[in-house]
Amino acid sequence: MRRAPLRCAGRYAARMSKPVRDSLELPERLLLGPGPSNVHARVRSAMSRPLLGHLDPAFLALLDECQDHLRTLFGTSNAFTLPLSATGSAGMEACLVNLLERGDRFVVGVNGVFGGRMADVAERAGAEVTKVEAEWGTPLDPGAMAEAIERVQPKVVAFVHAETSTGVRQDPAPIAEAARAAGALVVLDCVTSLAGLPVELDAWGIDAAYSGTQKCLSVPPGLSPVSFSERALDAVRARKTPVQSWYLDVGLLGGYFGGERVYHHTAPISSIYGLTEGLRVIAEEGLEARVARHAEAATALVDALSPLGFKPLVDAVHRLPMLTSMQLPDAVQERGEADVRRVLLQEHGIEVGGGLGALAGRIWRIGLMGENARLDRVEQLASALTSVLD
Ligand code: PLP
Repeated sequence: MRRAPLRCAGRYAARMSKPVRDSLELPERLLLGPGPSNVHARVRSAMSRPLLGHLDPAFLALLDECQDHLRTLFGTSNAFTLPLSATGSAGMEACLVNLLERGDRFVVGVNGVFGGRMADVAERAGAEVTKVEAEWGTPLDPGAMAEAIERVQPKVVAFVHAETSTGVRQDPAPIAEAARAAGALVVLDCVTSLAGLPVELDAWGIDAAYSGTQKCLSVPPGLSPVSFSERALDAVRARKTPVQSWYLDVGLLGGYFGGERVYHHTAPISSIYGLTEGLRVIAEEGLEARVARHAEAATALVDALSPLGFKPLVDAVHRLPMLTSMQLPDAVQERGEADVRRVLLQEHGIEVGGGLGALAGRIWRIGLMGENARLDRVEQLASALTSVLD
């Protein structure tokens, strides 16, 4: 049998990596809702690079780099820090189903949709759930959280750093301190905060945290950066029952995402290319500069929309920089807020988010996340809105 000359492999590789036009016809949008946000051009380009195998040393070197960058962003030295192969909700589920067993006590802060989702996930895992609620648009009261923790003596306490359904920012340190004092593990939702606000898991005493790629990282949805402390991993090892989710079991995930690099599931190669490139972009800008850019854009947004009658829902001290919830002026209410959003999208290519739950029809959620936290995006929105409402 004749053997194919070796140079065929090179020709094949060249053919496979040639740029080609795809056939999808999609509109360009400026994504100023609660996420996803627009993706950096370098990330788009990285995601179209030729595939490597998920055990290829060249890919594993990239994965090492990705995990290192994630540790920096999360403010942690946790070895178990990785991009989970699913969206932020899977990160939430991974934290809760690994740390909770049937009958375990769980205290959760609920001042919006995502605290409520954590309560739901924990109930499905069979935990005894105590909710500490606060009015939507206000932060959790650390005193009320501390009182519930003291009374319930839970195994796990959880809350949201940046509540995307309302635009409220929570100070994690006092709640984490109260939980630690009672010997509880602390879980923090960082889906919207990561890369737009400082996150300091180790300094705050957080045991498990999760995020998403589609907000301030400016990477498409599909991965959930997660981090577990040694204390959290010890709690998982001490479980009496196996973790009910095979896919999200941190003991099994550690086989691939830890030092051994053995197969657990096929890693989403292209998504990890995109995330790593996105994390390089963030490292080049510097976290401090990026956080300052988000704060500056949010201030400009409030200034630009107030002459049109929009008012922020949340007090300035508790307001998120990357997601501003705006109460709507009469001109928007009278026209129908959903109709105004439709015209913004179809005629100006700009997406903003409506309210959720009790805030549906009352607010818009305007995201200036990652690449979109820039003054020219604010100007574009203000001028489109001025023309729509004229
Ligand atoms: N937590 C918060 C604070 C969020 O904003 C979101 C999504 O918007 C999630 C969790 C769930 O993430 P995903 O939609 O990526 O599953």
